Amino acid sequence: MSRPISRRRLLTLILTSLAAAGGAIIAWLTHRPAPIVVVIEPTQIPPTPTTIPSPTPQTLVIVPRDQWGARPPDHGAINEFGVTNDPTNPAWYVYPDNLADVYSTVAIHHSAILLSTNETMRDVQDLHMDTNHWADVGYHYCIDKNGIVYEGRNIHARGSSVAGYNTGTIGVCVMGNFEIDFPLEIQLTKLQQVVNWLTTTYTLTHLATHHEFNPESVCPGKNMLAYIDPLAQKAGLERGIGGYVKPI
Ligand SMILES: [Zn+2]
Repeated sequence: MSRPISRRRLLTLILTSLAAAGGAIIAWLTHRPAPIVVVIEPTQIPPTPTTIPSPTPQTLVIVPRDQWGARPPDHGAINEFGVTNDPTNPAWYVYPDNLADVYSTVAIHHSAILLSTNETMRDVQDLHMDTNHWADVGYHYCIDKNGIVYEGRNIHARGSSVAGYNTGTIGVCVMGNFEIDFPLEIQLTKLQQVVNWLTTTYTLTHLATHHEFNPESVCPGKNMLAYIDPLAQKAGLERGIGGYVKPI
């Protein structure tokens, strides 16, 4: 038979147990996993600007004719024969006026040769001079599949890109056949840059497709059409041929 536990012994046992429990709690507290520390950065409040910084200007690089090996215009070409001072004559015509008073519309074209053929600017010129028998490449500017922008026909000379509507119309060609291919993003980016630049330089009012001028043509191809309205909108131009003024 065990001896009855004394009151003093009982008190000692209780205190010892409490101390042991407290130690365990302290040990758990001191050995628990380190907490994940999330550093919350202070909110960055920009200083109030005293002037509104202007956006970085985009640089538009245009490869001039002499750098892509352009042939000189041929004024003996049978479908653009001779040189004239009369804007109603279909011969080679150089605008005598301030170009901002002449140009109203930019016409969008495709070259109708597949992107995979790696067509060059000289190929476009050769086609226009040797097959179409024009005096020079018909477009004023072209954009190849790498987004390189080329000077075509001199901007002071009337283009040959929209039959019956060339006077006062700037021709811009995106190289590719967009009845089959899709225009590349870099080409669309450059096209927008070119159109924006032409709009401000020559105070243009309208943007149209070749097809809108000459319905018998599918140019600039069905896969380009979705981009035409936004292109005009971003440049602040009206759509269509409504800005065309027939020469007197
Ligand atoms: Zn065209």
